[in-house]
Amino acid sequence: MPLSTDQCERYSRQIELQGWGAEGQERLLGSSVFVAGVGGLGCAAAVYLVSAGVGEIVVCDGDVVERSNLNRQFLYTRDDLTRPKAPIAAAQLRRLNPDVTVTPVIAEIDRSTAGGLIEGADLVLDCLDNPETRIALNRAAIARGIPMVYAAVAEYTGYLSFLNPPATPCLECFVGGTRPAVDPPVPGCTAGTLGTLEAMEALKFLTGTGRTLAGKLLVVEGAVPSFDVIEIERDPDCPACRSL
Ligand SMILES: [Zn+2]
Repeated sequence: MPLSTDQCERYSRQIELQGWGAEGQERLLGSSVFVAGVGGLGCAAAVYLVSAGVGEIVVCDGDVVERSNLNRQFLYTRDDLTRPKAPIAAAQLRRLNPDVTVTPVIAEIDRSTAGGLIEGADLVLDCLDNPETRIALNRAAIARGIPMVYAAVAEYTGYLSFLNPPATPCLECFVGGTRPAVDPPVPGCTAGTLGTLEAMEALKFLTGTGRTLAGKLLVVEGAVPSFDVIEIERDPDCPACRSL
């Protein structure tokens, strides 16, 4: 669909970007992104995806809003405590941009559900907070050939990569086995920074502009502060992607 006059104006500041143009914007409006988890990472990522005009966004989370979420999960308020996150996040996001269809899904992501949940998405955003769930998402994304943006945060530290095996490592090539879920301390700004960077990876991939972090890991050490990009390689013995 060609852009309307309103859309040309709404998106004008990004359409001007080198290589983006009306074509890139139309591509974005025709794209679908699955946001796995609408916690600290997912709130930030989803806001920028919706504002940018990604046409379809699924926000999936099985959790309810807790008081300890409110330092970083800015789509929720005190009035939302004990209510499921996904529908509240979806309602807030819809207010930002009527061009975008935001679908809430209240579900736990695990090995039995992940595949069906991400079906049909052009891209998956890993905005999760525990290794077990991430691995389930990684396996499902590999099985369906859907690229995935990975981010993780703890304290002032964050990690980010663009995963699309076999062209790049998968999550399990560089994040070893399952570990127990823990809730590390994390200020909202760390989650917000990395969630925003996840949206940036998504927008570059979907519009074909810039270069993604394919084959690279961004390491943000906010306490130093430093941003470093390191090369990462596939693990030939990786249990998830070795057969690709
Ligand atoms: Zn792998």
